[in-house]
This record gives sequence, structure tokens and C-alpha cells, in this order.
Amino acid sequence: TGVLVVTALVLTAFTSSSASEGAALAYQSANKAYVELCRDSSARKSRTNWLQVINEFSVVFRNHPKSRYAPSARYRTAGLYEQLYGYSGRKGDLEDAASVYLDLVKRYPQSTLADDALYKTAGIYTRLGREDKAVALYRKIVSQYPGGDMVASARKELKSVQVQEQPIKGSSSHATVKKVRQWSNKDYNRVVIDLEKEIPFSTMTLGPDKNAGRPDRLVIDLDNARTLPGAQYKTSVNEGILSDIRLSQFNRDKVRVVLDLTGKPYYETFILQDPPRLVIDVSSNRKSIKDVASYQSNIKKVRSGTPTIMPTDMPSIASQFSLKVSRIVIDPGHGGKDPGALGPGGIKEKDITLAIGKLLAKRLKQEGFEVYLTRQTDVFLTLEERTTFANRKKADLFISIHVNSNVDTSVRGIETYFLNLTTDASAIEVAARENATSSKSISDLQLIINDLMLNSKINESSKFADSVHKYVMSSAKNVGYRGRDLGVRQAPFYVLLGAQMPSILVELGFITNSTDLSLLRKETYQKTMVDGIAKGINNYIMNTTYAYRGRTR
Ligand SMILES: [Zn+2]
Repeated sequence: TGVLVVTALVLTAFTSSSASEGAALAYQSANKAYVELCRDSSARKSRTNWLQVINEFSVVFRNHPKSRYAPSARYRTAGLYEQLYGYSGRKGDLEDAASVYLDLVKRYPQSTLADDALYKTAGIYTRLGREDKAVALYRKIVSQYPGGDMVASARKELKSVQVQEQPIKGSSSHATVKKVRQWSNKDYNRVVIDLEKEIPFSTMTLGPDKNAGRPDRLVIDLDNARTLPGAQYKTSVNEGILSDIRLSQFNRDKVRVVLDLTGKPYYETFILQDPPRLVIDVSSNRKSIKDVASYQSNIKKVRSGTPTIMPTDMPSIASQFSLKVSRIVIDPGHGGKDPGALGPGGIKEKDITLAIGKLLAKRLKQEGFEVYLTRQTDVFLTLEERTTFANRKKADLFISIHVNSNVDTSVRGIETYFLNLTTDASAIEVAARENATSSKSISDLQLIINDLMLNSKINESSKFADSVHKYVMSSAKNVGYRGRDLGVRQAPFYVLLGAQMPSILVELGFITNSTDLSLLRKETYQKTMVDGIAKGINNYIMNTTYAYRGRTR
């Protein structure tokens, strides 16, 4: 995100307050329509419904072009076109998305969304096969938004383009097959082929060939594709129905992936985006494949011919894929005799965390997750009881909700923690406060964590924290939050110690800052936080391998 916010501030200052209220209301109404569309899978199948929401955001922009909601409205409009493409398959929708993103950059070059819009446009150009244009936009991000949060990603894209330019020279329409991954659980095997970009593919099954010593096979042919030099030919799996995966350059333009199987397969294939990948679910059991693919086949009804493309940024990944693992424990910090941090006027952290925890539970349940709260009322729980609860529930994710405090009442911002050793004094300070009801000292905890390091979920927790933090921050910024992005940090939190699943602790603002406090007490802003956390959870699940890794129960 860009850093040049000075002009935006000036613009806001000159906008009359009633006009900005009008913009806020219009934006909220558009957003409400958007959320409703997201919730209603049958409504999403109608193009008219998408265009209506797109129109609402366009109206916000047209009627309030100078309000601080205008860039966000443009950004949402573009994003909606991009999602709509997932249903319509119309190239025109992608092109519209790109032109609205670019319009945002042109009109609001100093908006914090400008570099994000450039990055999204570059992604669209790549999908449309116009790599040269994409490269130009990545370069623009690096040169014009060097302080923004898209710089690292843009550099990475540029680097990968430069690496690939040589082997693929003269055949820029070819996509590289980057990696083949697989997971299994008791019902099915999932094979994921990571692609440089979306390409056509076809599948066929072959029966056993005794003479050639071949078993049942599922063959996936990827057109206009290349394997990486030195790619592994055969991977042995020997789980479920899947014995081996073989990968080869079949001819100049075609990559062939063969799944060697122990029997006749039932299977389902679909393309996912960001990053582009082909997913193959295969099983000896027809029913488990039907369960997994039910959401996907719903989409198929509105399209034909080309493989299904999932829209990005959709809520409710769990319900879309019927994941066998989707149990989340939410821990509203403090409670009972432990009030947590105190704000002006005797406001207690424990009350805010409970309110947000309950809203989050409601939201995640609506999205199809199985959700448990460590407490639903104002009761005291020891820190050990909280993680023990999560372990007993066999939760897949654990999230502890807190509000920060500081002696300096001007300090504002949001930070997200995962459990780890730290030498950072301010992180230790936060941990010490949150650990206050434990008898263990910080140095005890550092020692215990040292012992646990090898077996813990620190890596996954760090990714989980990254995802939630990113979305909470952007939710907050979308409603004009001006507190600091204090980032993802690590510290020895007792409440996260011993949790057997990826676990994080969010500090959603400062109770000691009057602006943060008044926001955190409002239900609308609490829902903004909830929205960010929920999106972060979905994004984490979408991008993680953890959820599938043979977790059967
Ligand atoms: Zn706390």
C-alpha cells in the first residue's frame, strides 16, 4: 500500500461532513449488497445480481468522487468484475476489471489502493496472456510505489519472469508446470498441479494393461505446457487409491501427468486461482468425490466447455469444499476476575473481546465452520484451560482475541502474534501483560518454548498470523482506520503454549487510545474486525496444505 497519503488527508478535510456521511452510507449500502450476494450461492449464478452490486459501488464513486470511499468503491467494482469472470467465463469481464483498476490508479494515484490495483491488473494481464503489459505494471509498482506493500510481491513476479524468459523464449504462450503436490485423507486423494497460468487440459482413464505392467490410470494432459528443467519424473505415494504420480513432457506442447491407481477411480477436476492450479480429487469411492465437488458442480451448471474457475476472495471456503477439517476455537481474552487491560471510564478489555468473539463465532458458523468459544459469558478461565479446551475439541485453528494497552495514550494500531521466542522488548511487554494470570515468568516460558520448538506448529501459526493480520488491516483501512499497522510479531504467550494447532493472538487496537476505544465499542467496527479475521481464516485455509494432511477422525 502506498505511503503518499497527505493529499488524501487534505481532500477529506475539504469535503463537507454531510457529503462524507452520504458517501459512507452509500458505501455501506453497496457493501451490504455485496455481502448478501456472497452469502447466497444461487443469487451468485445470476449475472444481473452481480451487475447490480457493481452498479451500487459505481454510484458511490460517481456521486462522491472526492470522498475517501471513492477509491475503495472503484477497487470493489474491479474486484467484482474479476469475481464475476469466475462465473461467466467472459473475457470482457476480466478486461472490465483491469480497466476499472487502472482508472483507480489514474484518478487516485496517491490512494493506498493504487499499488494494489496495479498488482491486480498485472495478474489479469498475465491471465490474459499479455505478459509484457504485466511486466510493465510490476515495474511501475517498483518505481512509483517503492514504499508500498506490493513492492516485494512485484519484485518477485519480475524475478520469476526474468528466470523464465530464457527457456521459454519464442513460446511465451506456454505455461510452466511449477510443482505437483498431493495430500490424502481417509476419503480421497487430492493432487494439485501448480501452474504458471491457466491452460487448457483434458483427462482420461486407462484400464490396467497386464502386458505393459500398468495398473488403472488417470491421465491428465496439459496443453501449451512445459515442465521445469530437472522436474522429478515419478513420486511414490501409496496412500488411498493413489500409488504413484508420474510427470513428463509428452511432446513439444503437452505435459502429461499420470496417476497410477490401485483400482477404478472416481475423480473430479477443477482450476483454482491465485496462484493458478489444477486440482484433481480422486477416490475409489464415488460418494466422497461427490461431496467434495458439490459446490464446484453447482458452478458448472452456468458454464460449459472450459474448466471451472473459482472466483477469488469468496467467503466460506469450508462450505465450498466440504473440508473434513474446519473446527475453530475462538478465545475471547480474559474474563471474570481478570478484566484484562483497562481503558478510560473503566472500560474493560474482557467485555470488548467477548463481544467480538461472539460476533466472530456467529460469522464463522454462517460460513459453515464448526465453532467453539472458550467462554460465552463473563467468567474466569486460566490460560491453560483455554488451550486445553482447544486441544480437547481437536480444533484445527485457535484464535485468541485481545485489546492492547499502552501508557502513551496516543499509541494506536493493530498487531497479530504467534507463539515464539523473542528478544523484542515491546513484544515481551505485551506478552507479560497477557500472561499476567499465569504463575510462569517470561524466562520460564522461553525455556519451555525452546523445548517445544521442534514439535510445535510455529511455521503454520506464522502463516496463519500473516493471513489474518493482512485481512484485518485491510478491513480496518477500508473503513478509514488510521492507526498503525504494527505487523505480525512473535512472543511467548502462555495462552498459545501447548496448543496443538496453528494458533494466534490478535490485538485489535488500544483500549488506552480514545479513538481506538470508541471504534472498538461500536458494533459496526467490531463487525469490520470480524470480517477481516474471517477473510484471513478463509485465505489461510485456501492457501494451506495443513488442512488436508491426513487428518482423519
Ligand atoms: Zn489481553
